[in-house]
Amino acid sequence: MVAALEIRNLHASIEDTPILKGVNLVVKQGEIHALMGPNGSGKSTLANVIMGNPAYTIDAGQIIFDGVDILDLGPDERSRLGLFLAFQYPVAIPGVTVANFLRSAINARRRDQNPDDKGISIPEFRRLLTEKMAYLEMNNEFAGRYLNDGFSGGEKKRAEILQMAVLQPKITVMDETDSGLDIDALRIVASGVNRLVGPELGVLVITHYKRILDYIQPQHIHIMMDGRIVESAGPELADQLEATGYKPFFERYGLVPTEE
Ligand code: ADP
Ligand code: MG
Repeated sequence: MVAALEIRNLHASIEDTPILKGVNLVVKQGEIHALMGPNGSGKSTLANVIMGNPAYTIDAGQIIFDGVDILDLGPDERSRLGLFLAFQYPVAIPGVTVANFLRSAINARRRDQNPDDKGISIPEFRRLLTEKMAYLEMNNEFAGRYLNDGFSGGEKKRAEILQMAVLQPKITVMDETDSGLDIDALRIVASGVNRLVGPELGVLVITHYKRILDYIQPQHIHIMMDGRIVESAGPELADQLEATGYKPFFERYGLVPTEE
């Protein structure tokens, strides 16, 4: 069965300020969606709420993943169900290499399925890691680096993509943040995503700019304004946005631009 992330009439607030005002969105395995929108429209809030960030209050609505209502689950439980959030582990972990980190992640997953699991053997793990790194055209040396310790933006993204390749989530949410990625990081994300997409993986790319969409081709584009998805269409919607900017969308929905 194809897994889906279904967001239904989601309302969420932070510190009593309503941010999400009725979001509806369905992303299925095998599909690539882009969520676009001006700064402050609520894109990162949506990513945080999908992840289970406790700073946000859910006021109404549901998030169903693979048939399960996940709103009462913690971030770890969501991840074990097959939901991946690209910015899940942004912190540096001193003394833990990329390889160690990935091995613990695999073992946590295996123990979740069977509490008596002894963990993946070292030779088996090496084989898996070598295979995934070769497929992603990553240098083997990278696996021996300490996770996120002095990583460039590109290296952080490389670690995320590798984590995705190893954990094989069903749906991944990538918030590309408004600070933006340098071109190197952008290419790493795009080529990784392009290699990993297929019938088993659904992707929601969140982005302010069309730039990343020159590298990743989503079938569905959604525009978020003032906490709601106001338009959904095919790739032509991103071209339209590129041509006009967000101004006509603000006008169409009677909203006042704060900044662009
Ligand atoms: P986007 O990712 O689309 O730029 P965000 O989800 O980051 O938008 O922000 C949506 C809105 O939430 C913005 O108006 C922002 O000012 C507001 N916001 C974000 N964090 C807080 C906070 N801690 N307290 C109050 N308002 C916040
Ligand atoms: Mg954001």
